[in-house]
Amino acid sequence: MRKPLIAGNWKLNNTIAEASQLAEALKTELGNNTNTDIVIAPVFTALASVTHICASSSIQVAGQNCHCVDSGAFTGEVSAPLLVDAGCSHVILGHSERRQFFGETDNFVNAKTHAAINSGLTAIVCLGETLEQRESGEMFDVITNQLSLALNEITPAQTENLVIAYEPIWAIGTGKTATSEEAAEVHAFIRGLLSGLFNHEVAEATRIIYGGSVKPNNIGALMAEADIDGALVGGASLTASDFIAIVNYPKPLKVVQK
Ligand code: PEP
Repeated sequence: MRKPLIAGNWKLNNTIAEASQLAEALKTELGNNTNTDIVIAPVFTALASVTHICASSSIQVAGQNCHCVDSGAFTGEVSAPLLVDAGCSHVILGHSERRQFFGETDNFVNAKTHAAINSGLTAIVCLGETLEQRESGEMFDVITNQLSLALNEITPAQTENLVIAYEPIWAIGTGKTATSEEAAEVHAFIRGLLSGLFNHEVAEATRIIYGGSVKPNNIGALMAEADIDGALVGGASLTASDFIAIVNYPKPLKVVQK
């Protein structure tokens, strides 16, 4: 069985002091939770402080991005080994905001995915369609392309360090969530793609998490779906009580051990 994973993407928010305070609050309530993998992604400047706070807890820390090259003349970039050095276990890659505002392509996401996994990080690879693509019937083609390009030449063994985040772009930061049925349909489709790209075992073992306006009041219905293994949470992860409520979502009769 797949262990649920709830990740908080803090985006471009919080000073070091604010990030530390939020991490402390989460650690107090969630620091001993071993039923769910809990990951938080602060800005780079707060990583050292947040990883220090979370070191003695079950909360893990992610970078929000990394470059595909380990070191060199790449002004402004942070590499996967440097995230490991800062105490990170995960990195978010290919977020729609990176694609939209910073021109990241599927091939670039692929190069970063290789770099992250080769450095020992777990790559949370994001993909999802726009509203126009969904409404014009292109959604499944878009998802197929994004997934196959992002995972090009990733081996079945490397998928142990891989999480897929399905994030319909129209649901990110808009307050508009995909219904649990809409999300479940795409998650099942992605699992089928993973089976074709790798094999049945990889498809069954890989966690596919949902992102897009996840809140305390909709997480339960999403998590009740067999193919939804967790959530990537933006806005609601900035408020300790909301993120705690999301992690402690009402559990259905689903077994939660990996
Ligand atoms: C995200 O940042 O990945 C996200 C899903 O944001 P929000 O929860 O605010 O929609």
